[in-house]
Amino acid sequence: MDHHFDIAIIGLGCAGSHVALELLKQQPDIKLVVIDNAPSTIHKKWSFWEKSNGKWDDLVLKEWNHGLFKSEQGTIELDLNPYAYKTIDSRDFIAFAKAELLKHPNCSLINATVNSIDQTGNNTRNINHTEGDTYSKLVLDSRIDTAFFKDKTAVTIQQHFKGWTIETKKKSFYPERFTMMDYSLRDPGSTSFTYVLPYSATKALVEFTYFAPALVDDQVYDRYLKKYITEHLDITNYKIVEIEQGVIPMSTYDFTQHHQEGIFKIGTAGGWVKPSTGYSFKMTEKKAALLVHNYINNLPLSTNLFPKRFGLYDRTMLEVLHQFNKDGPEFFHTLYANNKAQDLFKFLDEETSLREEIAIMRSMTSMRMIKSFFKNLF
Ligand SMILES: Cc1cc2nc3c(=O)[nH]c(=O)nc-3n(C[C@H](O)[C@H](O)[C@H](O)COP(=O)(O)OP(=O)(O)OC[C@H]3O[C@@H](n4cnc5c(N)ncnc54)[C@H](O)[C@@H]3O)c2cc1C
Repeated sequence: MDHHFDIAIIGLGCAGSHVALELLKQQPDIKLVVIDNAPSTIHKKWSFWEKSNGKWDDLVLKEWNHGLFKSEQGTIELDLNPYAYKTIDSRDFIAFAKAELLKHPNCSLINATVNSIDQTGNNTRNINHTEGDTYSKLVLDSRIDTAFFKDKTAVTIQQHFKGWTIETKKKSFYPERFTMMDYSLRDPGSTSFTYVLPYSATKALVEFTYFAPALVDDQVYDRYLKKYITEHLDITNYKIVEIEQGVIPMSTYDFTQHHQEGIFKIGTAGGWVKPSTGYSFKMTEKKAALLVHNYINNLPLSTNLFPKRFGLYDRTMLEVLHQFNKDGPEFFHTLYANNKAQDLFKFLDEETSLREEIAIMRSMTSMRMIKSFFKNLF
């Protein structure tokens, strides 16, 4: 086997898959290797919103045109049209990327753990991994630099959660509408809520989620999940068929400081998770397309990856949530009550004009929000 490639991708997760698929589409002759160590049992549900038909519709498990936001201040029905909120099983997406990769004779997939990357002569990087050594001109690396976990300067909120996919014998869910955030049950003093994706009348993912600086013990999630299912969904007889758990960093940390000559960080490791929401599937699709465009056109790889204005909004939202964590429900209620879901989606997709962004900012009458905004601005 030839061990020399044009591009090596480390990690066939969300970012690695998106980038590999985009590269194969734009440059089918590229010599590409993907090195990944994921056990096949790991899975996540990746949800995102997009307008009408999308690229991954064949892989979508379920989509919704209606959503619900609930807090002590009231219930808000979210009519998403023309957007739909969609869910994909990460295993299906990665299997699709893998199958595409293996159709290309110039591409390889190595199941190994990368230990180190060293510069060799001739503009080539030597990737040392548990199956040997691989050489590549460019490395796209989805390993998060350990410096991030030690950093004390950035504002970081952990989106941490545990979800149970439950099945019931009786019809228990309204499958046409998902619950974006339900604050009617929460861990006192924190921004914590329940998220519900009803796949059918008898099956749903119920997830207890925090946007908070600190993590909690496992049994805390279990306690809130049980309470929500029995007291808020009024379900006593159910079976847990799947569990998903995770921590997503929502952070102002500058991940791009870890790019090196010939080694470019992608995915969470490159700051591709939207700091103010923790969503990254759709953002990753966009950034993967831009990255490949930059590569093909010989531009610096980071060209246009991070529009400045949106970085400021993300920092503002994170700062507000960090400083006033107990007031998260009020913050999100104000946001959803005063803006159409479509406008918020467009804003979070970083596709709004300055005028539209100012309208959203003005709708947030909270003084804390405005103060924090100006603190960031000057
Ligand atoms: C449970 C969960 C649910 C989520 N749900 C959503 C959602 O609904 N919507 C959304 O937009 N975002 C969601 N996210 C956030 C985000 O989409 C994911 O975290 C996403 O997987 C990040 O992509 P990534 O490529 O950076 O990392 P990953 O997808 O984790 O991929 C990294 C890959 O690199 C491999 N790897 C790591 N180290 C090495 C090494 N040394 N050698 C070789 N391989 C290595 C890993 O095994 C893995 O396969 C969720 C996150 C979690 C944890």
